Amino acid sequence: MKKIGVLTSGGDAPGMNAAIRAVVRKAIYHNLEVYGIKHGYQGLMEGSIEKLELGSVGDIIQRGGTMLYSARSEEFKTEEGQRKGIEQLKKHGIEGLIVIGGDGTFRGAKKLTEQGYPCIGVPGTIDNDIPGTDFTIGFDTALNTIIDAIDKIRDTATSHERTYVIEVMGRDAGDLALWSGLADGAESIIIPEMDDEFDEVIERLKRGHERGKKHSIIVVAEGVTSGHKLSRRVEEATELETRVTVLGHTQRGGSPTASDRVLASRLGAYAVDLIMSGKAGIMVGIENNQLVNHDILEVLNREHKVDLEMYQLSKELSI
Ligand code: ATP
Repeated sequence: MKKIGVLTSGGDAPGMNAAIRAVVRKAIYHNLEVYGIKHGYQGLMEGSIEKLELGSVGDIIQRGGTMLYSARSEEFKTEEGQRKGIEQLKKHGIEGLIVIGGDGTFRGAKKLTEQGYPCIGVPGTIDNDIPGTDFTIGFDTALNTIIDAIDKIRDTATSHERTYVIEVMGRDAGDLALWSGLADGAESIIIPEMDDEFDEVIERLKRGHERGKKHSIIVVAEGVTSGHKLSRRVEEATELETRVTVLGHTQRGGSPTASDRVLASRLGAYAVDLIMSGKAGIMVGIENNQLVNHDILEVLNREHKVDLEMYQLSKELSI
């Protein structure tokens, strides 16, 4: 293999730039040419492709977002869209592709691989919702952003003796809510994987209030319900003054943490090793701090699982 391409697709995540940098530098280290494809699969179909050099990825390891931009493309889900993408790859002589993104991005990679274009997936999403890896690139940074926000909200919650509902991202996964709730000592954590405990939440709030607690924090994953709806239900059930903060897109940006930069560097470089060794249709990941790879199809058919021991611990620590 002489020429490879790299793209980012789906929601951006902090650390994607560090992953791009690792792909480019590692590939050049092994005397490959690397092409950056802008705007994900949309840019691939449109031929938005340019050669990247060592210097092209300088000064980006610390930046959030993605220098290659990201996009969602409905057209690429069609055979015609994929045909257009393959035509562009052929035109530029690109023999393999490394895609950085979430499960949708991996589905696209699988389609290309099936049509003779070897692709490797690198998990980049703040949601941490990809099976086959303990962590995805961007999760740690988003988590720390959330914790910083909750710490600040806690000051106001205490000063005004209020209950705060904080809605966090995560799509259908509860990882961001669970980890941030545990790290911030939230009274209740509501996640899609365990969405049956509203009565318990109310009981815990009342117990805390009776014991003289000055504030309560409830972290709710966006995959369960909106923070506003939950807040109304809490007010109706308790008569406690309740406020809502929806953290929204503040969770997606920002400079990646050390942990995300290191993870992105390791996974990006590993993806290059694998594509050079002739692997295709697989994703890279990290399990027990070891680099691993799995068939994309097998991963997509698996259900993401949240750590239920951690969930139980969060309850035990917020009695
Ligand atoms: P995140 O979950 O972090 O937003 P993602 O990669 O899951 O990331 P999606 O919007 O689901 O984000 O997918 C990104 C892009 O991948 C889509 O816009 C589309 O171009 C492509 N894609 C998704 N599903 C398929 C599919 N079944 N076949 C071909 N391409 C697909």
